[in-house]
Amino acid sequence: MSYLVLARKSRPRSFDEVVGQQAVVRTLRNALTHDRVAHAMIFSGVRGVGKTTLARIMAKALNCEDRQGPEPCNRCRSCAEINAGGSIDLVEIDGASNRGIQEIRELKENIRFLPTASRYKIIIIDEVHMLTTEAFNALLKTLEEPPDHVYFMFATTELHKVPVTILSRCQRYELKRVPGRELAAHFQAVADLEKVAVEPAALGLIVREAGGSVRDGLSLLDQVFSYCGSTVTARDVTEILGLVSHQAVAEIAEALLAGKLDDAMARLDTLYEYGMDVKRFINDLLTWFRSLVVCGIGPGSEKLLDLPDELLAAAREGAGRHPAQTIMLVFNILMEQLDKASFSSNPRFALEMAFIKAVQAAEVVPVTDILGRLDRIIAEVAPAAAGEAEEEEHEPVGPRQGVVPPAAREVQGAEPEASYGSGRSAPAPAESTGQAAVQNGDAPLPPSSGEQEAAEGAVQTRSDESVRRSVRRHWNEFVEYVRDRKPWMASALQVAANIRHEDEELVIHYGDPVQCRLLKNRENIKLLTEFALDFFQENFRIRFEVPDSNACEIDPDNGNSPLQERQALANDALVLTAVDIFNGEVGDIRVGPRFRKAAGGGQDDGDGEP
Ligand SMILES: [Zn+2]
Repeated sequence: MSYLVLARKSRPRSFDEVVGQQAVVRTLRNALTHDRVAHAMIFSGVRGVGKTTLARIMAKALNCEDRQGPEPCNRCRSCAEINAGGSIDLVEIDGASNRGIQEIRELKENIRFLPTASRYKIIIIDEVHMLTTEAFNALLKTLEEPPDHVYFMFATTELHKVPVTILSRCQRYELKRVPGRELAAHFQAVADLEKVAVEPAALGLIVREAGGSVRDGLSLLDQVFSYCGSTVTARDVTEILGLVSHQAVAEIAEALLAGKLDDAMARLDTLYEYGMDVKRFINDLLTWFRSLVVCGIGPGSEKLLDLPDELLAAAREGAGRHPAQTIMLVFNILMEQLDKASFSSNPRFALEMAFIKAVQAAEVVPVTDILGRLDRIIAEVAPAAAGEAEEEEHEPVGPRQGVVPPAAREVQGAEPEASYGSGRSAPAPAESTGQAAVQNGDAPLPPSSGEQEAAEGAVQTRSDESVRRSVRRHWNEFVEYVRDRKPWMASALQVAANIRHEDEELVIHYGDPVQCRLLKNRENIKLLTEFALDFFQENFRIRFEVPDSNACEIDPDNGNSPLQERQALANDALVLTAVDIFNGEVGDIRVGPRFRKAAGGGQDDGDGEP
């Protein structure tokens, strides 16, 4: 007994049996009833929704010798011949493989003669968009004045590729994806006929995977039925569809992006054992990568994806795990390679080759990637870096050394008061430690500040004082505001020893010149000025202040000594994170004992972050 796949076995033989497409079916029925069938019609829609099925039913109805209303009888000689695929007057052409002008010439020759045994000659051209321009032109003349005894029926998955001149001569029928409810009912009926019991949850999974295509769903059912026997559970389906499920595809994509070639290969092997459809898998994999790329662009573009919520969430998560550049790179390589795999005589080898190339490409990280990663990691490590920097700065910046001008100390002294809104009592270190609301990057509070400086603040004019207060209060918010736009800049601001506002100037004080090295670039100052203008609505002049004496602490004789350089570099926020990223692989930066001490030093005055 030969096995007939479900898609063929359950192919509708009359309009009544068609799944979904109610609107198109009604129109076709009416045309038949009122004898107004166009001599050229085109059916469009995604694969497996019934385009050629409807064309065949139309062919049967037109040639039926015993038609009752619009429905073909399925019993007469003509109907029987068409059902058996042996009608001499029904010509079915696959546009993908017969796309040249020669085929169309032969066709035109054929239709010059009257039908042999039936009323009409019916020409069905599937994938008509594949025809060459010459073939279309040759066809056009016939379509302009089709002989009375000929009907043309075209089917296409890509309507936009069919020339307008052809379209304008056809009656168009656009077939929709079949809704899940109707698919479920149809698949249930098929299962009943096959005497297979299918759990509702299992049916739901198949419907989801079918994506609105009757044929796709039926070939999945075929796989499931041959694996499970007489009972199908959701667990079975997950196991079998593991080979084509979104999760399996997502896992392979993740393995490729993470550079785990062995993992990707092992998963591919498992899928092969289940006998997956290679073309479908390739399509699924590319579709998934597209979802990752689109998610990486931003939330606004997610509407381009026709994904259920849980898959969208998974795609977002997947996209968030890797730099957009890497995803695009791998996507690009897979597209090139898998295109070949689809036509390869050994698609598995081609697939494996594609995986190898994709992983190799992902390993060669482009510079833009590193920068992107740097920015993200900066955002993560900034609190720690800031804490370390502050630890270190206390000595040079402290009032004891007289580096900080009185005005700065005044800002520092007033800070706790501003934050607490309490009286002018001297801020104890313990209090500042307790300021959970005051984030890192805030001006550090030297233990020695107090009433005296705070009192000096009162001498200032009101407006000056309010601006100063605003800067003080909202500095952390400002840093966050900058972080949203330029993460590295925020990190650099965060390690500032303190900030103050004086004479329309925003003075940002650094304990170490290296820390503001990047910021002092003219372009960056300009950018920062704009950020400040946008945020504070004040046109500040921005000035960076660094202590001259700081370097001498390290090497009094030579400001450019390697030791100083190294220490300075090691303190740079960018370098700190770079070291993190590369696990110390940056050869010319060595984290010396000095830095270690500074970085790992205890939090003695409560300015450090938790
Ligand atoms: Zn018939």
